[in-house]
Order: sequence, then structure tokens, then C-alpha cells
Amino acid sequence: MSESCLFCKIVSGAIPAGKIYEDDQVLAFHDIHPQTPVHALVIPKRHLSSLDDLQATDRGEAGHLLERVAHVARELGVADAGYRTVINTREHGGQEVDHLHIHILGGRRVGPMVSR
Ligand code: 5GP
Ligand code: ZN
Repeated sequence: MSESCLFCKIVSGAIPAGKIYEDDQVLAFHDIHPQTPVHALVIPKRHLSSLDDLQATDRGEAGHLLERVAHVARELGVADAGYRTVINTREHGGQEVDHLHIHILGGRRVGPMVSR
């Protein structure tokens, strides 16, 4: 838990979010500014600042997180048509919230992967 972290506050319930899925390690909720008809964020409940903070000892947790991303996408009904997953890391990656999160973007065909 990081006191100043927005997503830690969502995990603790201090800030409300449209929750989609929750277990002891993972939380999924709707993005507040959806870029596609379906736009969800899946996060580890434990504070990790970015993908770059993952350690070799976190492999089990990371595997669970990724499997739950696929589960949430199925629950949201976008799995058959397909969806985009995105992890932005630090400044050049366009990361705005410093708590590791995986975007699920679906409900329409998304454009090229990198905009200029
Ligand atoms: P990033 O740019 O860091 O990869 O993505 C951060 C995402 O968090 C953005 O898509 C943004 O819309 C979303 N976001 C920022 N603040 C909030 C919030 O308070 N609640 C929710 N549900 N999403 C948020
Ligand atoms: Zn956090």
C-alpha cells in the first residue's frame, strides 16, 4: 500500500470504482475515461509501481494476474471478438498512474498499436 497511490486507494475502497472482479490478489474495474466501449483495468492489489518493479519471485503472482486478465475479458464478453491489452511503463510508455495495471480495450476494432 502506497499512501499517495490512486489505485491503492481504489483497492482500499477510499476511492470508489466500478468493480468487475476481485480476489485476494487482483482487482479489475472500469476505466474512468473509457477509450473503447469496453475499457477495464486489471491490477495487483499489492502496490507495484510499474512492470519494471516485477521480480523473479513475483512470477506466480504475475501469472495469476495475466490469467485473470483473460478471465475478466471473457466475463466482459469481448473474448470471442478479441481485445487489446496494454501495459504502459513510465514516461515514454505513457504511464500516468504509478501502480501496475493492464488495460483491456474491446467492444470495437482498435487501431494501430502505436500512434505517432
Ligand atoms: P496509464 O496511462 O497510466 O496506463 O492509465 C491510467 C488509466 O487510469 C487511464 O486510462 C485513466 O483513465 C484511468 N484512471 C485515472 N484515474 C482513475 C480513477 O480515479 N478511476 C478509474 N476507474 N480510472 C482512472
Ligand atoms: Zn498503488
